Amino acid sequence: TMAHSKALLVLENFIAGKFVPCSSYIDSYNPSTGEVYCRVPDSGKEEMEAAVKAAKAAFPVWSSKSPLERSQILNKLADLIEHDLEAFAQAESKDQGKTITFARTVDIPRAVYNFRFFASSILHHTTECTEMATMGCMHYTSRAPVGVAGLISPWNLPLYLLTWKIAPAIACGNTVVAKPSEMTSVTAWMMCKLLEKAGVPHGVVNVVFGTGTKVGEALVCHPDVPLISFTGSTLTAQQITEKSAPHCKRLSLELGGKNPAIIFDDADLTQCIPTTLRSSFANQGEICLCTSRIFVQRGIYSEFLKRFVAEAKKWKVGNPSDPTVDMGALISKEHLEKVRSYVKKAQGEGARVLCGEGVDSLALPTGNQKGYFMLPTVIAEVKDESCCMQEEIFGPVTCVVAFDTEEEVIERANSVKYGLAATVWSSNVGRVHRVAQRLQSGLVWTNCWLVRDLNLPFGGVKASGIGREGAKDSYEFFTEVKTITIKH
Ligand code: NAD
Repeated sequence: TMAHSKALLVLENFIAGKFVPCSSYIDSYNPSTGEVYCRVPDSGKEEMEAAVKAAKAAFPVWSSKSPLERSQILNKLADLIEHDLEAFAQAESKDQGKTITFARTVDIPRAVYNFRFFASSILHHTTECTEMATMGCMHYTSRAPVGVAGLISPWNLPLYLLTWKIAPAIACGNTVVAKPSEMTSVTAWMMCKLLEKAGVPHGVVNVVFGTGTKVGEALVCHPDVPLISFTGSTLTAQQITEKSAPHCKRLSLELGGKNPAIIFDDADLTQCIPTTLRSSFANQGEICLCTSRIFVQRGIYSEFLKRFVAEAKKWKVGNPSDPTVDMGALISKEHLEKVRSYVKKAQGEGARVLCGEGVDSLALPTGNQKGYFMLPTVIAEVKDESCCMQEEIFGPVTCVVAFDTEEEVIERANSVKYGLAATVWSSNVGRVHRVAQRLQSGLVWTNCWLVRDLNLPFGGVKASGIGREGAKDSYEFFTEVKTITIKH
């Protein structure tokens, strides 16, 4: 009906500094009610062509600005997003299903910080110089932006992960075409409204909305986009690698995980239990860094399990806009079904579901009955070979298993295809160093989780990705280096 369609939020692509409508649209759902509330452009090749053209045209001027000029613009943009923090947080929570508390304290503050961080770090890079005195030569390196950067981001931390790419790309002097997830496009669209006021010249940041297979692929295959920074699933990364191969594109791939927590019997459980609950269930378990395999040393296994399950049962699941709620809705109906199917499979294999899905009942407020909710779920007595211990579930499901020795647990922790993040809990400093060194993982947190210094590399090994992001790493990825030799 007209009344219904009037109420819908309709997004537009942002190309060459202007909002432009699209000829067709995709429905976007509010995960906490199950209702369509927004229409997202279903862009294709034509829209991508226009966006790349705009980015290419903006490159000569933007790339020749000084780092300080670009830095000031990034800081201004950070200020503008921060000024609207509450509106951004509300929008992110509604669009993604995450709690308003998480959006307020994690997603949007980090998006602001991404711009501030790269506004600062871009001012402090140095290049290398070597001398060959006997040859009368010195060599030095110089770095220049690459051109039009293609940026593709997922739905779990929408603005957070998109700005983690936009900020370093434009700080380095590139222009960008960004493609957010079709399921969470709203905050990217809101950010576009602030670009002009921040002083970002037209065409420097272009955002084209739509699906991965249509407009995402158009970006990956575009001959004038020499570089793709992608965060998402391992399967999509394989497709991107294949499609971009004929063009020899530079790729950064931040992918999935099957992250272990290793808890030794000398761990401080008063710290370990609340942190491991967060690392398992924060953002509905929809963070690439979430723990989904918990290895507990035999001596404390039953005590850990008892306390962990008791605390998991206390998590309040419901309306994401209620600030007392700990866990919101999953991203989509399909994803909820997929996550649930893992719990069923585990039960079929003889594992025990100690709390959550299929065990406890979930009481939802009337307005949220059709939302995509599930309870924090803990599975025990599951075999290492089980799909629940091997595949990324990407929901509020975690498996707890016992181990005996350090040697054994390292081998078991490493026996998955992924290698993104691990946590190690022990009060023995020698042990945490030994174990951290031997884990096949891009990140290891000991006695903590998700404490990040953006200066240092972020990224995974094995099926969790290729390349790293961070102050120096993103600078290197988003610039091309040249070695120049001077003979006197
Ligand atoms: P996804 O791979 O389905 O989609 C990610 C993005 O790629 C979306 O914008 C999508 O539209 C696009 N896309 C899909 N197919 C494409 C194609 N053929 N060509 C070009 N683009 C395409 O991932 P998702 O479901 O949105 O996100 C969840 C995944 O992301 C999980 O595996 C999670 O672990 C991973 N993730 C990784 C990190 C990290 O930093 N390592 C961070 C967050 C999420």
